[in-house]
Amino acid sequence: MNFVEKNILKLKQEIPSNVTLIAVSKTHPIEIIQQAYDAGIRDFGENKVQELISKQPHLPQDIRWHLIGHLQSNKVKYIAQFVHLIHSVDSYKLLVEINKQAQKSTRIIDCLLQIYIAKEETKFGFSFEEAEQLLRSEELKTLQNIRITGLMGMATNTENTEQIANEFKQLKFFFNSFSQHETQNLKLETLSMGMSSDYHLAIQEGSNMIRVGSVIFGNRNYQK
Ligand SMILES: *Cc1c(COP(=O)(O)O)cnc(C)c1O
Repeated sequence: MNFVEKNILKLKQEIPSNVTLIAVSKTHPIEIIQQAYDAGIRDFGENKVQELISKQPHLPQDIRWHLIGHLQSNKVKYIAQFVHLIHSVDSYKLLVEINKQAQKSTRIIDCLLQIYIAKEETKFGFSFEEAEQLLRSEELKTLQNIRITGLMGMATNTENTEQIANEFKQLKFFFNSFSQHETQNLKLETLSMGMSSDYHLAIQEGSNMIRVGSVIFGNRNYQK
């Protein structure tokens, strides 16, 4: 059994069956991603469009590709034909562009709103107030080629587990407050929170989708 396979087996034993595991494969080569595929993983996450489109043609076509990093509007067109879920919708303008490109591909693209929950300057996303405004807006209903299926959040990168749990709790509370709110293109079912350092806490606080890289593939080498 190889390193990747071993890590996946261990992870699968740790997480409840209602939690979807996304293997975050950024910076890792095709051969290593193939190992995770062979170990049964079908959901993979990449944070850069360029990297995603350079890998996608060389890997099995039944992979569900998740875009998890900040997405620029002018790059949506490169992934619109195949992307499974966009986790990082952080503006209405981006949503409009995703809708436009989805229409061109005659698809409906599922999206998560990224919510800013960390106490850090560097994270993208909507505030709770902005997200609520968008979710209740009439404009949203006009976007017929997208569907808002959930929310994504990243906790502060800190050792303080109480703070992390608290940030996840806030997102879960907001998520729950929209659980009865359903329109043609809005139904919050997916709560994407938790990475290698905090997925246990995230699951404890109600996550049903975790995005895990280093625990599966080992540390990333950004020098290459
Ligand atoms: C890189 C990344 C992850 C995974 O990070 P690990 O710490 O390696 O698990 C999860 N989510 C996003 C948005 C990322 O960019």
